[in-house]
Amino acid sequence: MISAPREFAVTPDLGASIHALVAELYPLCRSVAGPGVLQTLEILQQHIPLEIESVPTGTRVFDWTVPREWHIRSAWIKDSHGRTVVDFANSNLHVVNYSVPVHAKMSLAELRPHLHTLPQHPTWVPYRTSYYHETWGFCLSEETLSQMTEPTYEVCIDADHRPGALNYGELVLPGESTDEVLFSCHVCHPSLANDNLSGIAVAAHLAQHLARLPRRYTYRFVFLPATVGAITWLSRHPQARERVKHGLVLTLLGDSGNSTYKRSRRGQAEIDRAVEHVLTHSGQPYSIAEFVPFGYDERQYCSPGFNLPVGCLMRTPHGQFPQYHTSADDLDFVQPEFLADSYHKLLATVELLENNRRYLNLSPCGEPQLGRRGLYQALGGSSDKTHLEQALLWVLNFSDGRNDLLDIAERSEIAFPIVQRAAELLVEHRLLQEAAHA
Ligand code: ZN
Repeated sequence: MISAPREFAVTPDLGASIHALVAELYPLCRSVAGPGVLQTLEILQQHIPLEIESVPTGTRVFDWTVPREWHIRSAWIKDSHGRTVVDFANSNLHVVNYSVPVHAKMSLAELRPHLHTLPQHPTWVPYRTSYYHETWGFCLSEETLSQMTEPTYEVCIDADHRPGALNYGELVLPGESTDEVLFSCHVCHPSLANDNLSGIAVAAHLAQHLARLPRRYTYRFVFLPATVGAITWLSRHPQARERVKHGLVLTLLGDSGNSTYKRSRRGQAEIDRAVEHVLTHSGQPYSIAEFVPFGYDERQYCSPGFNLPVGCLMRTPHGQFPQYHTSADDLDFVQPEFLADSYHKLLATVELLENNRRYLNLSPCGEPQLGRRGLYQALGGSSDKTHLEQALLWVLNFSDGRNDLLDIAERSEIAFPIVQRAAELLVEHRLLQEAAHA
């Protein structure tokens, strides 16, 4: 049974609250399948009423097969004096994720091909996985490796692969419409903060917030192992093709870099335009990237059999910061202010989608007399008064049933919330009504 959700708002600082969740999840040893993912989802369940789905090992999902679970208890390298040189207990990055078990004494020369370092960053430990090739290995700092001068070492990885399940978490927040907005995060990385505990923690906060609001759209949050998890989810949700109207993969949301939006494969879907509009009006530098078929799970959602309108919101893209997939992607690398900033941009995107509608001008022959109707007084002394005045005319002119408010916001270069406010005023003054759905 799921107890009442734990409120995130225990701290007045949203960024600190998001960071605290990142820190809570950080120590767990996640992998593609196994206890780390389950523990992660169970922690999320304390905050949001997530359903945990289990798909048995061996299940065929499109061209893939659900893998076995990985259970790791300990792993170490000891020198001939019994001194521990590398220990999984200190960092779960020290073992190549999904390694097969090993316990042997071997020469340094034999061991060396199983050791991974980052010579250009001698104190960092790399993150490596081997999901689809049976092998074992250790990741360590170049500094540690340079101190390994003995002829023989004892190595042990106490782990096993066993049939079980691939777990993923799913939360559906029903709205007035069955049309869905999808948010997807991967949950298979161990102690890495930006990739992708930042996405998980921001998404969980957004879900908790949206759960309290009236919603036009249905919102679906999925927390799943990358690639095979997303493929598994898609194989079990054939209705996604019709239902998912907008979607975002959330990752890398906590570093100090500029926001980056990677467009969906469609390129000009409403979600693409919505996020780009929010970034344009954020007052901060940002980057837009075209869709490419690598990166995160957007490449599954945008595979040609689905071609869902799903983009990817991040800050500095993967591979473009040296800390990526290393021990330096830690709790200091992600900062509360950037986590909060990413959250606010997402929330602005949701508010845009919720309020983007088509209207009809009810007085389309000539400009209606706004002064006589008290519309100028209605603007009051608002700081956006000039923009709002202009927005009234833009909304009236282009509300012909074909343009929605985002079209008008783009064309007028006025921020969406001001255009939305203008439309609300015009509806109040009976100059505008919502157009019937196409
Ligand atoms: Zn990654």
